[in-house]
Amino acid sequence: MSHVWLNLILTVIVASSFVRTAGARCSVEGPRHSADLLLKGTVLTPQGSLENGCVLVRSGKVDYVGTGCGSDPSVTVVDCTGSVISPGFINTHEHIEYSTFAPLDDIGERVDHRHDWRRGMRDNAERPVQVNGTKPDATAWGELRHLFSGTTSIIGGAMVPGLTRNLDFVAGLEDGIESPVATWDIFPLDDSEGILRSRDCDYGPNATTVEEAGKLYRYMAHVGEGVDDEAANEFRCLSDPTYDVVPSPDGAGLSVDIVASNFALVHALGLTRADFDLVAQRGAKIVWSPRSNVFLYGKTLDVTYLLDAGITVALGTDWLPSGSATMAREAVCGYMVTQESFGRTVSPKTLWEMMTINAAKVAGFEEQVGSLEAGKVADIIVFGGRGAGGQEHDDPFARVVFSAAEDLELVMRGGKVLLAGERLGALTGGACETVSFGDMARTICVEDELGRSFAELERSLDGVYPAILPAIPDGEPTCKATR
Ligand SMILES: [Zn+2]
Repeated sequence: MSHVWLNLILTVIVASSFVRTAGARCSVEGPRHSADLLLKGTVLTPQGSLENGCVLVRSGKVDYVGTGCGSDPSVTVVDCTGSVISPGFINTHEHIEYSTFAPLDDIGERVDHRHDWRRGMRDNAERPVQVNGTKPDATAWGELRHLFSGTTSIIGGAMVPGLTRNLDFVAGLEDGIESPVATWDIFPLDDSEGILRSRDCDYGPNATTVEEAGKLYRYMAHVGEGVDDEAANEFRCLSDPTYDVVPSPDGAGLSVDIVASNFALVHALGLTRADFDLVAQRGAKIVWSPRSNVFLYGKTLDVTYLLDAGITVALGTDWLPSGSATMAREAVCGYMVTQESFGRTVSPKTLWEMMTINAAKVAGFEEQVGSLEAGKVADIIVFGGRGAGGQEHDDPFARVVFSAAEDLELVMRGGKVLLAGERLGALTGGACETVSFGDMARTICVEDELGRSFAELERSLDGVYPAILPAIPDGEPTCKATR
């Protein structure tokens, strides 16, 4: 059976087990008479879910979270009883400017190292990708796609002002948060030319030094993106100063040790269990992008080993060409592949932590975002409906992590409403427009940040991959492991 068919069948199986039924929708009680809001519903917290809970938002920040909601006439009440209130998702890995390029066709090839597909090395097909439209337009489009599926913060290597927070740019943090920011790096070993090593560290002359890495607030770098010894070698060169002590002719090429609590390894697919033990011991972190791993390399890592070792793991979508279009689709993939490849279960709550509080820890912003706690910015999403239907998926965490964009009722960033459901019009202000999410209407208010309406940007991009997606996005790369 072809990979395409397998993928389709598996996707249908997963989707149908999370079938949504019509359910609760939020509504505003009376007119919006105050900028401050009291949201009522099932609230997700790292300690568990609070049925009949509430979140009080004052001046763009979370003021109170709990079950003692009472009735305060000085605030506008948003009744989301039966819906689930969560902190916005934090996507810890994206190449956001590739958001106008449709997912790559599946040619059935699974390679051993990223340079194989990047540069067509070792008899593999080169998989070129491109940015359609200007880079700022394509980046805005990507931020909108994530915003319209519940993501409020991104680390994506590019940014536009407004829309999602960009935790890797001082200018992209948005109201309520100050620097320092995370540093995003594709080639810590200066190997962009396709350098593959397995017995030494003779990569490019500008590999990251201990001193450089040590100065960074958070260093989030691609390491070991592959399944071969060349991928494993990259971690040896960044973790063991005794491994290569002979300089290359240009004076570089020595192994170093930068494994520390400010270091987050993106992908880390080539690491051994002993390597992960060292990552755990040093308090370093891992960014997991299972769909892109599976599509490009045929497998992903056993995340349960990392979790058992105590490593803080965050989820990231990688990019549209080989990864998930939304955080929820990344969660579906992570859940499914861990069961199929390793016979282990990652609970919806654990996945939710990887998308919220643990993502904030990995990015270094856990004091400001990642959970609904007094003093943090009010980056809040609400999913209506029953989310993941069926007995086993009544779990409110599952309803959020396996959500579909059509169920999104509310998105706010720092208390500012950017998307609102059909009965929440009273919350919106400024230049807003109505768009269709499946058969639901949503009000989106992004024009003052985008500098033009969403409809205008959409027209100018002329038929690129959409920013508002169905439950299963078109052309989604497979999550079916082949090894
Ligand atoms: Zn990447």
